[in-house]
This record gives sequence, structure tokens and C-alpha cells, in this order.
Amino acid sequence: MPQQTPPARIALLPEVVRNQIAAGEVIERPASVVKELVENALDAGASEVRVDLEEGGVKLVRVIDNGCGMGAEDLAMAFHAHATSKLQTPEDLDHIASLGFRGEALASMGSVARCTILSRPQEQSTGATVQNVGGKLSEVREAGGAVGTSTEVRDLFFNTPARRRFLKRTSTELSRCLDVIQRAALAHVGVGFVVTHGGKRVFDVEADMDLLARIRRTFGAELAESLVPVEAADGMTHLLGYVAPPRFSRRDTARQMWFLNGRAMRDKVLTRVLRDSYRGFLEEGRQPVAFLQLSIEPAQVDVNVHPAKTEVRLRDSRRLFGFLVHHLREAVRQTDMSTPGESMLLSMQRRENREDPAQAALPNPGPLAAGLQAAPQPGFEVHEVAGRTLSDVIPSQAPATPLDLEEGRKQWTEGDDLRGPFLQIARTYLVRALPDGFEIIDQHALHERTTFEELRQDVRENKVEVQKYLVPELVELSRADVELLSGHMESLTPVGLELAVFGPSTVAVHGLPARLRNPDVEGVVRDLVDVLGRTGKAPGAEDVIEEVLHSSACRSSVMAGDSLTEDEIRSLLLRASALETDQTCPHSRPTKVRFKLPDLERAFHRR
Ligand code: ADP
Ligand code: MG
Repeated sequence: MPQQTPPARIALLPEVVRNQIAAGEVIERPASVVKELVENALDAGASEVRVDLEEGGVKLVRVIDNGCGMGAEDLAMAFHAHATSKLQTPEDLDHIASLGFRGEALASMGSVARCTILSRPQEQSTGATVQNVGGKLSEVREAGGAVGTSTEVRDLFFNTPARRRFLKRTSTELSRCLDVIQRAALAHVGVGFVVTHGGKRVFDVEADMDLLARIRRTFGAELAESLVPVEAADGMTHLLGYVAPPRFSRRDTARQMWFLNGRAMRDKVLTRVLRDSYRGFLEEGRQPVAFLQLSIEPAQVDVNVHPAKTEVRLRDSRRLFGFLVHHLREAVRQTDMSTPGESMLLSMQRRENREDPAQAALPNPGPLAAGLQAAPQPGFEVHEVAGRTLSDVIPSQAPATPLDLEEGRKQWTEGDDLRGPFLQIARTYLVRALPDGFEIIDQHALHERTTFEELRQDVRENKVEVQKYLVPELVELSRADVELLSGHMESLTPVGLELAVFGPSTVAVHGLPARLRNPDVEGVVRDLVDVLGRTGKAPGAEDVIEEVLHSSACRSSVMAGDSLTEDEIRSLLLRASALETDQTCPHSRPTKVRFKLPDLERAFHRR
């Protein structure tokens, strides 16, 4: 007897529901609308893009471009899912050169907002318009308008209240929209952008502004003027951009901007590249600032990994990683690592207020809003000035443009014999006059950096001088730690650490690098155990050696609290000046703080 079939339970979802589900991946918030629409404008070849926002983009996102436009037939297709002009064959997926390709964005937006597209192709005298309100598509009608496309997305999530509840305050949504646009503006030199919010202009860049001018417009002159350029090529791979000195680092990666073939990217691998490039120059937990354009053959990149297309998979990433870190690190070394007085005072003040305005959620809305952020007046005291006075070392004409000062400083440092007079304060700090201000040196930090760099040099050139002990120093450790060390003792010899197992829980230290003055032997060994245990790597690896040397240098520094003669100071400064970089100590505290004339003028309210 034939069994009765149960009623069918599986059915295809209606199209609008499918699109709403897709929208969950592509359109999370107003910033995602902005991103998709701006990408469409750029894919259409626009040279001018205007973005109008209302209520953080929740009420309105409108993007107007002067790109190729769409004819009536294309308009009829634009809101359909998987309708795209950017892919035709499956092979096209292997070398995507456009920003969009999934044909999902407009369909998704149409299903969760009230959308209108008005478009006119280059060659036609009239345009056309089409609407999609929560998945209900209108007819295409003729309409007037300029060449290009205007896409309007109103009342986002008006028909999906659950989604709407996840939206944040207007200012937060606005700042996310601005972040997307600013990234696009940095990625697309040659394209002009204008952004308004509630009818007020909040950001703009002109089409002819280069990358540096765009960075200046977006993040201010201080950052832009401190950047060091990078340019390198490896076959078809090109790297071009700027790195910032370590002092601009932040707690987040918001100012690490990577542009891969014109696409603004956030990617863990690239974050790691930057961290490695700044290793030794940044404090724990800080993220460097950099703006980098990377062009790679499209076939070497898979962008079809995530619906928002902000993640990539890079083929051959090992070689790429090495190439990037090598060239970036070179550039990072060239950045000015001294801490300028003004920014030091500002950061002190922020620390006092326990609130860091530069770290707040809002990205800098650009100079148009800069008037809102009045610079706080630093408190400042000078008790005594020694050494050459400023008037001895700078021309008597009024302090000129920053360029002249820079020039003056160069001349001064070229002929700088690093002679005093020095002023030693609290047996800790050394003060020295410069042509355009003065610097304060942390003698302990500088000594630490110098020892570290010299040690590293010795290890590289395989000529570490070892101070052997007549009687070995014994260090008590746990059995597990002795076990851990015993596996690595041979590879520690080239670093100048001569150890041997002495008992089940004792290690004998027979010698340490001679450069370590009065080392704290037990401290060196404990740090070593710590590094080896934490990294799980053999000490042959360069980063492990670096860490071991860092901590050893730190364990040897005798310069804190030492009163120094002028000769001792001078020899320390000479040693330091011979280094590749002497500007931060191995733990990335600054070694020098520089107060320039503008800092002093501000402190004395002269400007
Ligand atoms: P995708 O960008 O992935 O192709 P979209 O849903 O964003 O998908 O857009 C669908 C299609 O609509 C695009 O492939 C393009 O042909 C057309 N289109 C969208 N926006 C514009 C625009 N601003 N100018 C010209 N054509 C556009
Ligand atoms: Mg698109």
C-alpha cells in the first residue's frame, strides 16, 4: 500500500526575503550603504563623487557621480540580485579589477530601504529613474538629470525594525560613514569628493590633490609633515605610500590604511606586516600609523572571500610579507623618533584627563571642523637654562619658516661635535641646546638603546665579546625552566650567553656579553626563560634574539642615577649617534624629547 507522502515543507524563499538575508551580510549600517554606493560610482569611472547624508546616513544616503551612467534597460536590471555588469564568465572571478562584482548591493538595499536611482548615460540627452521600496520595484520612467548617476537610500531598515535597533547614535554612524569615504578618497587619487551632513559640508578633497595632500586634509598637517615615503617594487608588485613616526601610534588600527589595487583593505596579515616593521620602536599594544598603496597582479589576489570584500587572500604571501617588512622597516628607521615637546605636553595632559581626544571614536572630520578642537594650552615651567643660549646658535633675525629651522638644524647637527655644556638634572636627564630649541635626554634610556643596538651589531657580525667568569654565577630555577633552557644552550653561545646545566634546578652562567656593564645575571637568565617559554621558538630566530638582547640591555644599564662627567656624557652621545637609530629605548620609551622654538613660543604665549 503506497504510503501517504507528508506535506512538503521545503519551499524557495520569496525574492525579497532572500535579498533581506543577503542584506544582513552586505548592508549592516549606513556606512555599508555609503561604501557600496561610492564603490559603484568609482567603478563607473566617476571623477567627482558627492555624498549627502542625513542623521548619520540613517535617514538619507545619496551618492551622486559623473560616471558612465545607466540606460533604461540597465536601470530595470540594477535592483535584481546577482545582476552585474562587472562579471560575465566564471574566469572573470580570477582577476577582478572592479570594486563590485557580486551584483548584490543594490538588491540588498532595495529590500531594506526606500531607494531611488536616477541616471543618464554619457551619450543620451535624457535620463531615467527607478525606485525600489522595501523590495517593491517600480517601472522605469524617463527623467531629466545630469550625466551620471544619483542613488538615494532613505530610511534604512524601515521595514526591518530588529536591524534598526542595532544602529548607534547619529555621531557614531556619521563617523563610520566618514571613515569609509576618507579611505576611498585616499585610495582614489584623481577623484574629487564632497561630503555633506544635514546640508553642511563636512569633508572634501579636490580631484587634483595627491595622496599626501589628501592625508593632510584628512588628518592634519602635523601628521602629514612627519611622514616618510616608501616606494619599492618586486616584479609586478609595487608598494607606495607613507609611514608615520612611532609617536603617532594608537591603540587601534584605524589609521593603518592599506589600499590593495585601489580597494581599501583591513586585513590581519597586513596588520602583522606593520607590527613587524615597527618592532622595537613601539610600546606593547600600540598600533603604528601608515598609508600604503599596494598593487599586485589581480590574479595573485582573491577578493571573493567575504561579502563586504574587505578581506583578501594573497597568494604567495610569504615572499610578499618579507618584501613588505623589509622596505617598510627601512622607512620606519628614517622617521623622526624624537618626541617633540609639544606633543609630549599634549599627551601628558591627555593622560591626566584620562581621556585622549585623538583616540575618540570620531575620525577627524577634516579642517572644516578643526576650529572645534582648540589646542589646549600646555602648562610649562623652566627653572634654569644652561649651555649655549639660543641666540648663540641661531641667526639673530626673527625665527623664520619651519623650513629654515630644519635647514639650520641640519647644519648644526652636521658640524655637531656633541660637546656640552650639558645640564644634568636629578642624575637622570641631560639637557642640551640645539639651534632651534633644546633637547632633554634620558641617559638611562639612551644607554639602554645604545647597548642593545651595539649588541645586535655584534651578533650580526658574529663577534660578540664575552666576559668570562672565573667562578660561574649560579641561578636557581624551576626544573621545568632548566629543562627548557638546556635545549637551547648551544644556540645561545653566538649571542654571548654562556650557560650550562649545573643541577636539576640550577644553571651556571660562565659568561655574558662584555658590553653588558655590571649585569644582573639572574635577571638576564630569568628573562631568557621568559622569552623562550613565551615564544616557543629557538633563540636562533631573529625576533627571539632581539627580545633576549632587549632584556639583557635593560638588565645592564647602570646609567640611571649615575652622575656623569662631561666626557662620559659625550662618549655616550657619540656611541648613540653612530647607531642606525638612537631615538627610542628598546622598550620604545623615548630617549630624547625635543622642544623646538614653536613649542617655546606657544608655552610663553607668544603665539
Ligand atoms: P555590483 O557593483 O557588484 O555589480 P551592484 O548591485 O552594486 O552590484 O550594482 C549593480 C549594477 O548596477 C552594477 O554592475 C552596474 O552595472 C550598475 N550600477 C550601479 N551603480 C552605478 C553607477 N553609479 N553608475 C553606473 N552604473 C551603476
Ligand atoms: Mg556595487
